[in-house]
Amino acid sequence: MKREFAVIGLGRFGGSICKELSMEGMEVLAIDNNEDRINEFKNIASHAVIVDSTDEASLKELGIKNIDHVIVAIGDDIQASILTTVILTDLGIKKITVKAQNDYHAKILNKIGADQVVHPERDMGKRIAHSIISNNILDYLELSDDHSIVEVKVGEKMLGKTLVELDIRANYGCNVVAIKHGKDINVSPSADHRFSEGDILIVIGADKDISRFEKHLV
Ligand code: ADP
Repeated sequence: MKREFAVIGLGRFGGSICKELSMEGMEVLAIDNNEDRINEFKNIASHAVIVDSTDEASLKELGIKNIDHVIVAIGDDIQASILTTVILTDLGIKKITVKAQNDYHAKILNKIGADQVVHPERDMGKRIAHSIISNNILDYLELSDDHSIVEVKVGEKMLGKTLVELDIRANYGCNVVAIKHGKDINVSPSADHRFSEGDILIVIGADKDISRFEKHLV
């Protein structure tokens, strides 16, 4: 069954979400108050309409109430983003995802009932910073303000040693939750797993602990 989405604001972020969802075969209603943007997405989204999303009557007329998941990707105009989110929560939309420009914006969005607040620029900045620190860090995902998951290539100091010998949990306070090798993934690595070239570790922990682990072993 096709799921229905609406994307409000077709800038770089909203536009990319809209394209990806459409490519995956989802029904997408694309909304923007800029005619050029709508023309650009006419042949990409299932429907593309010029609407100012801060106008409650227009949103109602579109039948937005029947949409499962609305993504608000209005960038610079924080006021419009907040007002749109309020209208959508008042209408009782099941799931609302909103892009935040900064922490204050995010705080307000959480207060007014956004289900998911995303910070694409900040998060991507962090991920890239981590991969710049070490070529071995492949990915970085923030779980909360102070906990993350990282995907790292096995460090030279780890080669030939087992998980129990390295005792990463006791020494660094973080957990190796999975080890990938080529196409194989082991989601419950045993204590006697011996690291070899090509191993990729998925590590979860507090940022300060992961940072120590990265500095010493990776
Ligand atoms: P990004 O940083 O993701 O590129 P932009 O700020 O450039 O974001 O894009 C936001 C989009 O949202 C623009 O296409 C703009 O026309 C649209 N937009 C801004 N305000 C409204 C509004 N009130 N109603 C509908 N679309 C809006």
